[in-house]
Amino acid sequence: MLQQACDKKIVLTADRTLMSDYHHNEFVGFGTCVPPNIIPNWLYSWLFFPPIKTNNGLPIAAPYGLRKIEAQLLIEGFNVLTVDPNHLKKYIKNANVLGIHVMDPFGLGPASSTFASVLKKEPFLAQHFRALLSRTEIREAKKHGLKIIVGGPGSWQFRYRQKFVEEYGIDCIIEGEAEKIIGKIFRAALNGETLPKRYEVSVKETPSLEEIPDIVKPSVNGLTEIGRGCCRGCQFCSVTLRPLRWYPYEKIMREIDTNITVGNINWACLHAEDVMLYGSKNTMPNEEKLVKLHEIVVKKCEGICWSHCSLAPIAAQPKLFSKIAEIILQKQSWWGAEVGIETGSPELAKKIMPAKTHPFKPEEWPEVVRTGMGIMHDNQLIPACTLIVGVPEETEDDLIKTIELMDDLRGFRSLIVPLFFVPMGRLKDKEWFKETKVTDLHKELLINCVEHDFYWVEKLIDLSFAGKWYGGIIRQFYKVFARIAKRKARQAGII
Ligand code: SF4
Repeated sequence: MLQQACDKKIVLTADRTLMSDYHHNEFVGFGTCVPPNIIPNWLYSWLFFPPIKTNNGLPIAAPYGLRKIEAQLLIEGFNVLTVDPNHLKKYIKNANVLGIHVMDPFGLGPASSTFASVLKKEPFLAQHFRALLSRTEIREAKKHGLKIIVGGPGSWQFRYRQKFVEEYGIDCIIEGEAEKIIGKIFRAALNGETLPKRYEVSVKETPSLEEIPDIVKPSVNGLTEIGRGCCRGCQFCSVTLRPLRWYPYEKIMREIDTNITVGNINWACLHAEDVMLYGSKNTMPNEEKLVKLHEIVVKKCEGICWSHCSLAPIAAQPKLFSKIAEIILQKQSWWGAEVGIETGSPELAKKIMPAKTHPFKPEEWPEVVRTGMGIMHDNQLIPACTLIVGVPEETEDDLIKTIELMDDLRGFRSLIVPLFFVPMGRLKDKEWFKETKVTDLHKELLINCVEHDFYWVEKLIDLSFAGKWYGGIIRQFYKVFARIAKRKARQAGII
C-alpha cells in the first residue's frame, strides 16, 4: 500500500504573498496584511512581497512550516515537491495531491482584519489566496481527481468559510502541529480513501522534539525554529494551548547549515514565541543557554533577527539583554523582533495576560513596558509592537491607560500596531471586535499609533536598507509610499 502511495505525486505550495523573501526583511511581509491602497497593486506587491526566485519553478526558499511538512513527507518516503504558485501548471498535471500552506488565508488574523476594517477592503493576502485556488490548472486538476489538503497556522479560519471550502473543493483541513499525522492523511488521499473534512491534531498527537524533522531545503529568510509553545498562557492566544519544547543547539545548527549550504542564505531569523526564554522552563531567561545559542549562531551566520520576544525578561535582566545585543551587533547595526505590548492597563493585564508580566506583577506592567522598550532602544533592537484593542473585558479606563502609555513610548524607536481582538485561544467563543464597536477612545488610540509610526517610519526604512546594494533605490520607494500615506491621513483628518 505504501509503495503504491509513494509512486504517486504530491505538490506543496502557498499563495504568492507567502512565497516571497520580502526583500530579505521578514517584517516587510506585514505589508501583505494591508488591502489595496494608494499605490498601484503591481508596485505595492513588488515593494512588499516580490516573487521569490525559482529554479525550474521550484522556489529557492519556501515558508518554514511548508518545509517542515515537506521534510516529514520525504522521511516517510513520499514523492513530494514544493512548487512556486506561479509555476504550478508544469507540475500539477501529474500530481495526485496538492498541499497548501496557509497563514491568514481570509485576512481574519488580527493585523489584516484591523486593516480591512479601517480601509474597508479585502487584504492582499486574502485576495492572493483566493487567486491561488482559482487558478485554471488547479480547477482542471480538481476535475481529474486532485485532492486538496490545507494546513498551517491560519487553518482555523476555514471554520468561518465553509462555503469557500465547498466551492473550491478543499478535501481536508488540518489544524495544529501536523508532523505526526501528515503521513496518514496524505497516504489516505493518495489511496483514494475518504478524508476527514477537518482534522484537529490532539495534544496526544503533538510531536515531541525527536518527532519534529529538520528542514531539508531552505526556508524564507533563513527562518529557523528554536522552540515551540509558550508557558505564559495569555487568554487571547492560541499558541498557549501547545506544550513548550526548546530545540537543542545541534538541531538548530543543522537547519542553519541547510539554509547556508543549500540556499546560500547566511542569515538566521530565530523563531520562537519568546527568543529571550530559549532553554528556560519558566519565565526567567536561562543565561547560559541563551548566550551560547547566540554565540554559535553569530559565529556561523552573517546576521540574525528574532521573530518574537517579550518585554518582561528584558526588563528583568537588562545586563543579560545587553550581553546578547553585544554578541548580535558584532556583525550588524540593529535587529528586529515582534513584541506584544497589548495594553497599558494593569487591570486588563491582570485579567487577560497575568503571566505575560512575570516575573513582575500585572500592576507593574506599564513600567515593565517603558523599561523594556528603553532597553531595546539603547541596544538597537527595533520592535514591531502590537496592542490588542476591543477584548471583551476592556473598559474605558483601560483604553485611557493604554493611550497614556503610548505617550511615554514616543521616544523609543519602534512601530506600534493596534490589532482588533480576534476570538482565539481561551477566548475563542467570544465575539469579534468590529469597526461598528469603535468608540472615540479607540479612535484616539489608533491615531496615536499612526502618529507614532509616521514619526519613526522613515528612520526605520533608512536603517533597514543601509548597506544593501539595492538599498538606495528601494528606500526611496518606501519613503515615497510612507509620505503619500501620511498626506492621505492628514487629508482624512486622522493626524
Ligand atoms: S501572546 Fe505571546 S506570551 Fe502570550 S501566550 Fe501567546 S505567545 Fe505566549
